[in-house]
Amino acid sequence: MIVVTCPKCEKQLNLPNTALGRRVRCVACQEVVLVPAEGEEPTESAAPPLPTRPGPPPIPQPSRAVVADAAPGLQCAKCGGAAVRQLPPNQFSRNPGYVCAMCRSFMRPAGSNGKYYTVMAVGVVIVLLGLGLCFAAFGAAQNRVPMTAGGAALAALGLAVIGWAVVQLRLPFPLGAEAPPRGSGRGPR
Ligand SMILES: [Zn+2]
Ligand SMILES: [Zn+2]
Repeated sequence: MIVVTCPKCEKQLNLPNTALGRRVRCVACQEVVLVPAEGEEPTESAAPPLPTRPGPPPIPQPSRAVVADAAPGLQCAKCGGAAVRQLPPNQFSRNPGYVCAMCRSFMRPAGSNGKYYTVMAVGVVIVLLGLGLCFAAFGAAQNRVPMTAGGAALAALGLAVIGWAVVQLRLPFPLGAEAPPRGSGRGPR
């Protein structure tokens, strides 16, 4: 004697062993019930899995690159990203400027105009010296060629210095940068 539970009305059906593996009709609700063969687990009418409700769509995170050493409060003048790094000091300057970690734009420190104008003025002086040397070479009785060559080289050097300063002056400031107070970073007087 085996006992099978009707999956529809949950009535316990007492069946002879010969019903194993066969279909029987429930005496209560007339549902056709498959009697599992011996050794099988009774086939429970597997409830269809609950339709999994799709979770809320993932909230898009603002694409903000986290740069650990980004200068706080500064934003890139080109792309607006808050990933502006201060460049390490080099042989020319203790504060050479900034670089954006996102778009690789170079920016110069705020309040640095004076430095570059000074460099530009030095370049102009070098150019004038070189030109003066060239003019002097015209009136020189001897060594004209080396004097002219030296003057031309000096003028070229001065032009290079001016060009460098112009390139630096054309670089943007990072957004949020303010000119440092006068005398900051120059140590105690
Ligand atoms: Zn039934
Ligand atoms: Zn940028």
